[in-house]
Amino acid sequence: QEDVFKKLVSHCKEYGFVFPSSEIYDGLGAVYDYGQMGVELKNNIKQYWWQSMVLLHENIVGIDSAIFMHPTIWKASGHVDAFNDPLIDNRDSKKRYRADVLIEDQIAKYDDKINKEVAKAAKRFGEAFDEAQFRSTNARVLEHQSKRDALHQRYSDAMNAGPDLNELRQIILDEEIVCPISGTKNWTEVRQFNLMFSTEMGSTADGAMKIYLRPETAQGIFVNYLNVQKTGRMKIPFGIAQIGKAFRNEIVARQFIFRMREFEQMEMQFFVKPGTELDWFKTWKETRLKWHKALGFGDDHYRYHDHEKLAHYANAATDIEFLMPFGFKEVEGIHSRTNFDLSQHEKFSGKNIKYFDPETNESYTPYVIETSIGVDRMFLSIMSASYCEESLENGESRVVLKLPAALAPVKLAVMPLVKKDGLPEKAREIIDSLKFHFHCQYDEKDSIGKRYRRQDAIGTPFCVTVDHRTLEDNCVTLRNRDTMQQERVAIAELNNIIADRVSI
Ligand code: ATP
Repeated sequence: QEDVFKKLVSHCKEYGFVFPSSEIYDGLGAVYDYGQMGVELKNNIKQYWWQSMVLLHENIVGIDSAIFMHPTIWKASGHVDAFNDPLIDNRDSKKRYRADVLIEDQIAKYDDKINKEVAKAAKRFGEAFDEAQFRSTNARVLEHQSKRDALHQRYSDAMNAGPDLNELRQIILDEEIVCPISGTKNWTEVRQFNLMFSTEMGSTADGAMKIYLRPETAQGIFVNYLNVQKTGRMKIPFGIAQIGKAFRNEIVARQFIFRMREFEQMEMQFFVKPGTELDWFKTWKETRLKWHKALGFGDDHYRYHDHEKLAHYANAATDIEFLMPFGFKEVEGIHSRTNFDLSQHEKFSGKNIKYFDPETNESYTPYVIETSIGVDRMFLSIMSASYCEESLENGESRVVLKLPAALAPVKLAVMPLVKKDGLPEKAREIIDSLKFHFHCQYDEKDSIGKRYRRQDAIGTPFCVTVDHRTLEDNCVTLRNRDTMQQERVAIAELNNIIADRVSI
């Protein structure tokens, strides 16, 4: 699986999806640029989300708030005091790690050991293997299991106690966790490290103000909710959606665009009457999973991870996880955040931001359900589920990106069979008639087989070939990316056929 991930990362670079940022200066850690194909896929993902939120719901509207915000917002939201990761340094490698991640990896190692025992036994016993019985009786499995459970308990207790930084360090020492780089157990103290980037606004002579790059887009929605409600004459329940950049000074393992320092979020805050929030939480939880599944990667790629331990302001929370090449990972969070954020802004700003209900004549602070998804993580999940290496009947192989047609960067490639006899002109004519409707690409270089492979590699769902017969019958060959089957269709029909097949 790690191998697949490596291949995916190089494929992203080779075909213009994702480049390391500032590459000619040897890159910048956990920052990436989207290339000519990547930007199209990313825009299509954002459009797919925006349409399902804003166009399909009468009671959801969008905004685009600034990245810079008044610094007190981050005091009110709790980010200044509590948006921290517990970090630990290894003295020999001078590398810094998240203490919680080191321990979670250790827990995962026990799980791996257990799974290996089970897999070994399954191979040995074949069909007669009773997994449940094996798990409950095998001494080695039981030993790993009890160590795992004890560690998990100790870790949860430490995280819930603040976190208790000394205890986190003690766990790392007791478990004899070594630095992946130096291989030594030479650990420093654990320190809290705030994830927000800060900068200064205004010149020093004026008295510069320390401000933050937003670590989430949500606060821009909270502080505008009353502006939108009043000017849009919105009635509760209603939602505000936003797509935008967020910044976190993450300590990262090499996970490509899974965990970045500059990334993009698509967030929707849904404002509801207190007391109805858990019903709305359930509704959004289901609605969001359906949205993911509509892409057609298969239901087995998704699962919920309901949070047992909730943040102090939340009364329900779940993640939608996606099966990435490195296991099930969070792609989207759905949280019932009570009235925490709005109450805090009311307190810190001193302004009344209560909602007035004209029907019941009462004022109250709405409760909020939030759906929050990372564009880049969604991008990675889509790329990893679409990447295929196939062996063909003729003994050759191909790499094909089986992207959902609606998200594919290029919908249609038009190719003249040869570079003469009026075929290029005819191909250009077809593109001119379709380019306002779909992203088309013209390609006349190399053999037709090579051109198909190039389009397969960027996930183009359809290729049209213009041949000599086209000049007589005004028909072309339409090739399907996934089946590689070809059909003869009239040029006049192309628009309808493609439109029909690239919609979700
Ligand atoms: P994690 O536990 O992975 O750090 P989180 O729980 O802190 O994520 P949220 O604050 O709930 O994440 O953010 C909502 C979504 O934003 C996540 O589900 C993820 O898709 C995306 N996201 C968060 N941090 C990053 C990041 N550093 N890089 C890319 N996407 C991110």
